[in-house]
Amino acid sequence: MVIAILALQGAFIEHEQMLDRLGVEHFEIRQKKDVLRPFDGLIIPGGESTVIGKLLQELDLWDTIKKRIQEGMPVWGTCAGLILLAKEVEGGTPCLGTMQITAKRNAYGRQLGSFFVENTFADCGKIPMTFIRAPYIEKAGPEVKILAQEAGKIVAARQENQLVTAFHPELNESPAVHQYFLNMVAGV
Ligand code: GLN
Repeated sequence: MVIAILALQGAFIEHEQMLDRLGVEHFEIRQKKDVLRPFDGLIIPGGESTVIGKLLQELDLWDTIKKRIQEGMPVWGTCAGLILLAKEVEGGTPCLGTMQITAKRNAYGRQLGSFFVENTFADCGKIPMTFIRAPYIEKAGPEVKILAQEAGKIVAARQENQLVTAFHPELNESPAVHQYFLNMVAGV
């Protein structure tokens, strides 16, 4: 199994370190030739969704990535990655728009909006969740499965091959969400 990590901006190194810990092969997507290499799943990291979205277009990566997601390639968006996958964005412009969710950008406030909690994720029990100027999911279509909530707001969800988390699992010790995504990629 090979995982590609979008490495245009943001917290991609931390995802690489977690995949190293789990012994999973990975490489960075920085330019067009990278996205044409074979891979089984894609991680879109946290960062600044407007910057990543602009670079996706400028580097001509957008169409290839969108098409592969629509064809069923497993993708996981953390934080800014969630915003980039959302069909609708409150406080921003939709980018890839492949997932039937409405993301509310900077939903916890811009400056003081970073916090840490422990909460239940899918069937993994309680896991650490670090939120950094995070969005939450305001609305989700009927095909979207809710995987985690924090204070009544949806903060992790899945729609078939697409996984999103408003928090940053790559910044904590627990590999639970990475393992969940790898199981998706493996088709478990
Ligand atoms: N607030 C950022 C955005 O709108 C997301 C923050 C993050 O990825 N940690 O893109």
